[in-house]
Amino acid sequence: MAAEMVAMQTSSALVRTDAPLRVLDGFGGSMRAACRTLSPRTSEELSQMLARANDAGLSIALRGSGRSYGDAALGSDGLVIDARGLNQILSWDPVSGVAEVEAGVQLADLWKRALPDGYWPAVVPGTMFPTMGGMAAMNVHGKNQFKAGVFGEHVLWFDLITANGSTVRASRERNPELFHAALGGAGLLGAFARIALKLKPVESGRMKVGSIPVSSFAEQFALFDELREGADYLVSWIDCFASGATLGRGQIHVAHHLHANDDPRAVESLRLEEQTLPAHILGFPKSQLWRVMQLFTNDFAWRSVCLAKYLAARLAGRKHTYLQSHAAFAFLLDYVPDWRRAYDPRGFLQHQLFVPDPAARTVFPEVLRLLQKHGTPSYLGVLKRHKADPFLLSHGFDGWSLAMDFPIGRDGGARLRAAAREVTQLALGAGGKFYLAKDQLLEPAQIERAYGAKLDEFFALKAKVDPRGTLQSDQARRLFPERLRALTSARAK
Ligand SMILES: Cc1cc2nc3c(=O)[nH]c(=O)nc-3n(C[C@H](O)[C@H](O)[C@H](O)COP(=O)(O)OP(=O)(O)OC[C@H]3O[C@@H](n4cnc5c(N)ncnc54)[C@H](O)[C@@H]3O)c2cc1C
Repeated sequence: MAAEMVAMQTSSALVRTDAPLRVLDGFGGSMRAACRTLSPRTSEELSQMLARANDAGLSIALRGSGRSYGDAALGSDGLVIDARGLNQILSWDPVSGVAEVEAGVQLADLWKRALPDGYWPAVVPGTMFPTMGGMAAMNVHGKNQFKAGVFGEHVLWFDLITANGSTVRASRERNPELFHAALGGAGLLGAFARIALKLKPVESGRMKVGSIPVSSFAEQFALFDELREGADYLVSWIDCFASGATLGRGQIHVAHHLHANDDPRAVESLRLEEQTLPAHILGFPKSQLWRVMQLFTNDFAWRSVCLAKYLAARLAGRKHTYLQSHAAFAFLLDYVPDWRRAYDPRGFLQHQLFVPDPAARTVFPEVLRLLQKHGTPSYLGVLKRHKADPFLLSHGFDGWSLAMDFPIGRDGGARLRAAAREVTQLALGAGGKFYLAKDQLLEPAQIERAYGAKLDEFFALKAKVDPRGTLQSDQARRLFPERLRALTSARAK
């Protein structure tokens, strides 16, 4: 670190860059770094910290809840600003559904505030713990991306604190270039301080969910095509161990919002107590379930778990529908606290491939075949449909994504990385893109090929708002070494 022991005086606290090193990780648990962390409580403190670091030639990585899987929120070279202290919902209008929040507000706090008034966030990821700043920086998508687009499409404006500490307001009308680049810009253009977003009205706290067993990839794609028009949410689990004629088998979940007159308990179901996730699953207390899962995290046992899940879906049949609360449907992955620990001690790797339609229909089956050939099957496969959006580093387009979770093997992931590299090349060959929140293994040439001239535009803007290259995460240094070097050489001058 260039200027260790530099002391930074903020309005309310003395923040030293020799704060003790703390090991932070990405959600996958396989990427960690010893970091020095600053924890501002107000946007003024955040602004002063950025300005001081910028003046001192230190790099800054921004961090929310650390729910991105890899190194996007790690900063081993410099300082990490943990924005969770900026946790105020500044205003909530139950008539218009507009919320103005600080960047460290957790999604859980926002939906709990809005649902009793009949609103739900228009886009949510599979967990309720990310912060608004983290969601904006990654421009997250949900199980309704094909319909609602990405998070940024529901943002009205934001205040971004740039590297020199100044605050810039951006919206579709005001600083539109910055608006469309910072949303999805992985925290490399500035720190979100405040965000105004519009939530969507809901008449019931429950949705009608259908689960449909699917016997092959061909059936997956055909059913998505059939259901997409009328569905509010659509997502499929894929058994990545199945092969041959059953390659791509799994279970589709399709959900529809309920109108008040379709649900006799519409009003009661908006109450928070109706949204709690179950305390026990299959009779086990949830808090310990990851230990049971750990016993199954080997190829043989997990193959059996997937087979059992698929057979259970078949048994329930195609007409299986039920009512489910928004929280239970949206945040399935939060059912089991600490589930990621089932992959301890080496952690796991998530890789999400985005491939345009129709190429995905041949590429995704090929991806699963290739992974099986390498002996590195994914333990979880999730298929989603996507649409294009107007953001500069968007991962969305008219196409599909396949997200996969892989345990890191005893070889430290060497075999997996080789297989994932081939899979990545396959996606790239079909015009594929990737999602920085899920990235743990891309190489500079791969990201450059995926985003091409968009990166020139993005870094030209970064040169304006962060000319010394102060904002950079470990991920940015891994993916954009040359582009960052060009900027940071300006620091030395
Ligand atoms: C179980 C699980 C399920 C998930 N499901 C989905 C899903 O369905 N769809 C989806 O899109 N994503 C999904 N994700 C990914 C997750 O939504 C994103 O990684 C999100 O960015 C996490 O937010 P965070 O607050 O934890 O941010 P962090 O992981 O801490 O940081 C993410 C990025 O945001 C930047 N950042 C953080 N705060 C700020 C700020 N104030 N200003 C500027 N930049 C900032 C960081 O520098 C980093 O680049 C899932 C993650 C998990 C763990």
